[in-house]
Amino acid sequence: MKEKLKIAIQKSGRLSESSLKLLKECGIEFDNGLNKLKAEAFNFPLEVFFLRDDDIPQYVEDGVADIGIVGENVTLEKNRYVKLVDKLGFGKCRLSIAIPKDQKYKSIKDFNGKRFATSYPVILGEYLKRNKIKAEIQEISGSVEIAPGIGLADAICDLVSSGSTLFTNGLKETEVILNSEAILVANKKLKKEKLHILDKLLFRINAVKKAKNNKYILLNAPNNKLKAICEILPGMKSPTILPLEEKNWSSVHSVVEENQFWEIIEKLKINGAQGILVIPIEKMII
Ligand code: ATP
Ligand code: ZN
Repeated sequence: MKEKLKIAIQKSGRLSESSLKLLKECGIEFDNGLNKLKAEAFNFPLEVFFLRDDDIPQYVEDGVADIGIVGENVTLEKNRYVKLVDKLGFGKCRLSIAIPKDQKYKSIKDFNGKRFATSYPVILGEYLKRNKIKAEIQEISGSVEIAPGIGLADAICDLVSSGSTLFTNGLKETEVILNSEAILVANKKLKKEKLHILDKLLFRINAVKKAKNNKYILLNAPNNKLKAICEILPGMKSPTILPLEEKNWSSVHSVVEENQFWEIIEKLKINGAQGILVIPIEKMII
């Protein structure tokens, strides 16, 4: 039988949709009907397991799955023997300490002798130890944000993305312990055949990630401005320049990085670019 790579992704939760989308964008097709435990890809040697995110690090360590998509937060908390292969750029959040908003706060020393409620006792414990704070940690599995209100704890350590949950529970964020995003983890002892499939998958993931971070840009410019415009637009190798029907005008095509995007557009306009079109890129292979 031909070797297959087994990937574990979250069954239902905040990482599920983006994990499925990433595999789809990699051109991998499978049937993910409701309540399925696993699915086989039709067009790539991949088997997909749908699991609770908390179990993924352990399954990958044990080799039940070869690789997995899981939050950095969960991976660190579970402290399993797995390899970080790639950061995936979604599921971004931070693990933070929060206290009731009307309480004064000077520094982390304020937490000496206090009680924390958290679902992340390992990460919080290490953080407190590193900072030489002696505090009590109460592990709870959900609705951590209500703990101060019901007198269970003085402070909480929980995941935050927008901060709206903290706000509605009358809490304020005081320290960020960890910035997290979804990562690809792998078993540390994958066989050669499996590593080969993983390489193929990573090649596709990187093409998808690159494409997301870049945009295709088209614009028109008078020929006497082309030099300045080409300096602003480096392109993959160099920009493409095509003559327009109108005399002394050209069309310039190039690729720009998302994070420099607005800055570049402003400079292009100042330098005489007109009719700027920006188009998403589906895959990008350099
Ligand atoms: P499961 O049923 O699989 O155990 P869960 O309830 O533990 O799910 P989710 O709330 O779906 O987990 O979150 C999964 C992951 O999404 C988190 O571990 C974290 O990495 C990421 N995440 C991103 N933003 C947030 C957020 N605002 N709150 C919680 N998790 C977030
Ligand atoms: Zn979970």
